[in-house]
Amino acid sequence: MMSRSFQRLALAGALAGAGLLLATGPAEAGNKPPKTVPVRLLALNDFHGNLEPPTGSSGRMVDENGATVEAGGAAYIATHLKQLSDKNTLKVAQGDLIGATPLISAAYHDEPSVEFLGKVGVTASAVGNHEFDEGYSELRRIMRGGCHPVDGCSPAGEWKGADYTYLGANVIFKRPNASAEKDALTAFGGQDTASLRALLKDYGIPALPPVTVRWMNGVPVGFIGLVTQSTPNIVTSEGIKDLEFIDEVKAANVASRLLKLVGVKAQVVLVHEGDQVTAGQSPDACSAQPGAGNRIATQVDAEVDMILSGHSHQAYLCTVTDPQGGKRLYSQGGSFGRVITKVDFQVDVRTRDVVRSSVVADNQVVTRTVTPDPEIAEFVKTWKDRVAPVANKPIGRITADVTNTASASGESSLGNLIADGQLAAARTGGNAQIALMNPGGVRASLAYAGSAAGEGDGVVTYGEAFTVQPFNNLLQAVTLTGAQLKTVLEQQFTGGPNAQPFTKILQPSSNLTYTYSTGAPWGSKVSNLKIDGVGVTDSQTIRVAANNFLVGGGDAFLAFKDGADLWSGPLDIDAFAAYFAANPSITPPVPDHITVTP
Ligand SMILES: [Zn+2]
Repeated sequence: MMSRSFQRLALAGALAGAGLLLATGPAEAGNKPPKTVPVRLLALNDFHGNLEPPTGSSGRMVDENGATVEAGGAAYIATHLKQLSDKNTLKVAQGDLIGATPLISAAYHDEPSVEFLGKVGVTASAVGNHEFDEGYSELRRIMRGGCHPVDGCSPAGEWKGADYTYLGANVIFKRPNASAEKDALTAFGGQDTASLRALLKDYGIPALPPVTVRWMNGVPVGFIGLVTQSTPNIVTSEGIKDLEFIDEVKAANVASRLLKLVGVKAQVVLVHEGDQVTAGQSPDACSAQPGAGNRIATQVDAEVDMILSGHSHQAYLCTVTDPQGGKRLYSQGGSFGRVITKVDFQVDVRTRDVVRSSVVADNQVVTRTVTPDPEIAEFVKTWKDRVAPVANKPIGRITADVTNTASASGESSLGNLIADGQLAAARTGGNAQIALMNPGGVRASLAYAGSAAGEGDGVVTYGEAFTVQPFNNLLQAVTLTGAQLKTVLEQQFTGGPNAQPFTKILQPSSNLTYTYSTGAPWGSKVSNLKIDGVGVTDSQTIRVAANNFLVGGGDAFLAFKDGADLWSGPLDIDAFAAYFAANPSITPPVPDHITVTP
């Protein structure tokens, strides 16, 4: 069995066989306006397990009036969804619903978040890159159910699987996989198997359901799910080693043909890729800089009626031009459950296609001025109580705020602290001499005041540390030559092979110092590399500690993959906690290990 969505599509196929789809009856007399039926979509993206109202800037949003308001939280989302729902409503999402989540969700492999999204009626979602954080087989468990192979069942008992369908039309098995191919062909059985087989031959064998169909008011609406093709650069490689993430446009066009094959012409792309906007804009404005999201929105087949996006955590409503010159919606709804995108449109009951001129979209801020939904509030409280003994456990103290704010060199105090902790944990066992931490993995700052009630005295709890390091990456160490280490550091900058989209300065342990020149060409930016004050030669070998994401070449730091003698140690969060245990009162490191020259 591939999945429930394939079954649903097979159902659509069966109905087509029964003549219920796209019946070509006698031409209608006269010029009567087409009879249409309404459909409403309510869409979320990049929820990232924020069951509790997110705090700080992650919990604020600029609203339609330009005011900054508090937004997000599962119980508020539930209330807003109820208020926005009518009998024509389908609820969908655009990925990163799980992964990089707060402890309340992460401690239970995000089962609480997936259950919540099912409870509020989400019916289909694109996978995001973060859905692959724990690997493809764990994603399949989240989709289908069963207890975690290592950690067992959660306190709620055996996991029943997601109530919604995860879609990923551009996620393809690298090698032929007979059983998956059989699943795909069987699910479409009764349809044109020869043409389906031809389609799959050109396209590959999908590792996830590419499409799903929902019926509303007697018309089928097809959803195509896509995830950023950059996923292999931003997800730990081991968990997705059997998968290929192909061009989103190519995959969407195949999926669109699949839908058309079963007579589904109202087509919605849910894509986990998006663009940047001007800071502070209204969530309903379109200032999106044309980028990876816009490319997809403008280039996918004109049969697709709208593109709901994600990944860049921005809110926007744009109208773009499809390849045949038609206008279509391209939207995104921020992140962390702060915005719901409402899309209303009419479907022509004869052609079963979306009347493009009828599409009206509105980004609705999930304000906290409404009454939180009592059932969901209770659900969140249950999980909060379950995780409290773990979350509230003090692990150490800080003498002042330790922030992830980048200094002029790109280092941050917290990034340096994490690297120091990694080095300490990887010295014995891994024989590490230095450590490097990816800046994107430092997800929050540590506040002296803390977040738990009764704090304010520099106490750091496990929950706070987890908010900083939520990925459960493994700490590893590899041997690099001095020349390879220098290449890693050059790969921080744009302009090289497999270039960074923007400069990403790896956070160094305190004993690693060097200089980089902003003006020097790529390949000769880094100089004066020293470990413990001693200059590094090209031929010497160095044991470098980093998380398994970087060691696997993540964030385009491909030179890490040349490392030898791999050692795997503890989870990164455990290494961080151990560093607090060994250093009970930590003064924030000064982020001055890197010197910048013009
Ligand atoms: Zn993402």
